[in-house]
Amino acid sequence: MNKAELQKLKDLQGLDLKINELKSNKNSKPVQLTEKKKEADDIQAQLKSKQQELQDLKKTVDQKEVDVKEREDKITKLNMQLNVTKTNKEYGIITKEIDSLKADNSVTEDGILGFFSQVDEAEKVCGEIKDDIERKNKEYDDFQSQIKKELVEIDEQLAEVESTRQKMTGDLLPDLFKLYEKIMTHKPDRQAMALVIDNTCRGCHVDLTPQEINTLLKWKDTIVCRSCSRILYLEPATEPQKSK
Ligand SMILES: [Zn+2]
Repeated sequence: MNKAELQKLKDLQGLDLKINELKSNKNSKPVQLTEKKKEADDIQAQLKSKQQELQDLKKTVDQKEVDVKEREDKITKLNMQLNVTKTNKEYGIITKEIDSLKADNSVTEDGILGFFSQVDEAEKVCGEIKDDIERKNKEYDDFQSQIKKELVEIDEQLAEVESTRQKMTGDLLPDLFKLYEKIMTHKPDRQAMALVIDNTCRGCHVDLTPQEINTLLKWKDTIVCRSCSRILYLEPATEPQKSK
């Protein structure tokens, strides 16, 4: 590989890295959208649970109101009995019972007041969550259309880079291009080339043998790193520093 071929290969590598970046960017978009959707769904679940809580509270209040009403009916009946009571003893027993029912109702009514404020609070929270859901849904819609737009842009860029790449490959030595492609497609980072600095492969930090360095300095044969199998190259501009 001579210096001109190296430059072409580096240009190709640059395009492939760009393609890789665009593709992973493209793949990340649906994931981002799913995450956003999950945020909206989570809040929906929050609302459901809060609404259940509110319903339970209202049920409790209803039951307590029924209890109060039942005691009031009892008190009314006892008061009627009082009117026809003949003995002081009986009078005392009924009065005591009325007092006890009244005391119970007073406690229950205080309790109901407490529940009312809990109901108010829960209703307020439900309202807030509903506002939140509306906001999140709007955010999701905006995000979705933004991502659609971004995907179109990414596809346009990809088409452009891929067509440039297509044109470029015809310019390369077939064997060198084949070797490059074989390595590139097997590397998750798509990095098929490794710069050599201070006699070390920058792809994996393995030291090169003096013979390998000599081969590189001749600018003729192409060699790959024996450890990371990337195509090794020297930076022509910094080359003099290497020849000690
Ligand atoms: Zn290496």
